[in-house]
Amino acid sequence: MTWFRNGWGRAVSAAVVLSATAAGLGAQTAPDAAPVRVDKATFGATGEGTVVDIYTLTNRQGVQARLITFGALLTELKVPDRTGKLGDIVLGFKTLDQYEGPHPYFGATIGRVGNRIANGKFKLAGRAYTLATNNGPNHLHGGVKGFDKRVWNAQTVSAADGAAIKFTYVSRNGEEGYPGTVTATVTYTLNNKNELRLDYTATTDKPTPINLTHHSYFNLAGDGGGDILGHELMLMADRYTPVDDTLIPTGEIAPVRGTVMDFTKAMTIGSRIDRVPGPPPVGYDHNYVLNHGGRVLAVSAMVREPSSGRVMDVLTTEPGIQFYSGNFLDGTIIGKAGVAYKKHFGFCLETQHFPDSVNHPGFPTTILEPGKTFKSTTVYRFSAK
Ligand code: BGC
Repeated sequence: MTWFRNGWGRAVSAAVVLSATAAGLGAQTAPDAAPVRVDKATFGATGEGTVVDIYTLTNRQGVQARLITFGALLTELKVPDRTGKLGDIVLGFKTLDQYEGPHPYFGATIGRVGNRIANGKFKLAGRAYTLATNNGPNHLHGGVKGFDKRVWNAQTVSAADGAAIKFTYVSRNGEEGYPGTVTATVTYTLNNKNELRLDYTATTDKPTPINLTHHSYFNLAGDGGGDILGHELMLMADRYTPVDDTLIPTGEIAPVRGTVMDFTKAMTIGSRIDRVPGPPPVGYDHNYVLNHGGRVLAVSAMVREPSSGRVMDVLTTEPGIQFYSGNFLDGTIIGKAGVAYKKHFGFCLETQHFPDSVNHPGFPTTILEPGKTFKSTTVYRFSAK
């Protein structure tokens, strides 16, 4: 497709680089441009009475990311289309009680371990651990009350070219069955190049698995703007990890070439979706093995939505990416724009280590040792053409 072969024009390439450091709350000024801002307000209180704040990061193009301390979660992301018109391109809710209730992880930070662990069981240093199971027989996205349902501490931090907010959560030894007390952080930085950057860290006092990811459902036509089947997707992955009927990897690392899994060339998400093997509901819900191997921050996925012209590039230091085409959305959830989220109304690109790595010695390890710091970075970069 020409949008890829011709390169990825940046609709906002004229952005003036802001040299001031984002800091504290409030505004920073730079000549002839809107200031970079971090604004704070109260979002609500949890059922247990904990106050939850909402932070709004605004860059000099007016691009906005809104984040709440509940789940260190992205509630809104407004980016321009090809005419410069801002649109909110992530699914979510208006109120805290909806985020506290059951929902499929809209916008959330996922931990301690993203995706599934088979039967909620693993062995580490000769000991067997049993985790909370919350997805059929399996453990999914950190368990019944994962990092997505915890209230994080928030702190504004300085950023060279944008606005940033750092969230911290201390997960106690034994939480959801995991060993060790873990301190996890995620820093969201919105810069003036229209990049939303997520930097994660984690430390532990006992060996434990860690696999942090971000679970926004994107719709580049705008939240509630219909299904995402016409979005064009390219994944820098020649291989993926096939799964069984409960979506646990079989352990095989299979080539995508010649199959409906192949996005090495840009294809619309819907072009072959009906032929994706696996139990219903049909669609993509697979971990792709990134060609770059996960050691450097490299472009790993590109998506374009033809009607708006919006483009999203995903860069990550992680070795894998879960491409999930919103298969389980079934119209029962009404989103913040008042639209029912039907099947395929959003897609996720979750940068990660491979699912169930704790039970697959052949996969890159997810075990964090005391004295070491887990670090990982993902960038969602926006433009339009
Ligand atoms: C998983 C899906 C799951 C969804 C929401 C994705 O990361 O791969 O299987 O349904 O999250 O829970």
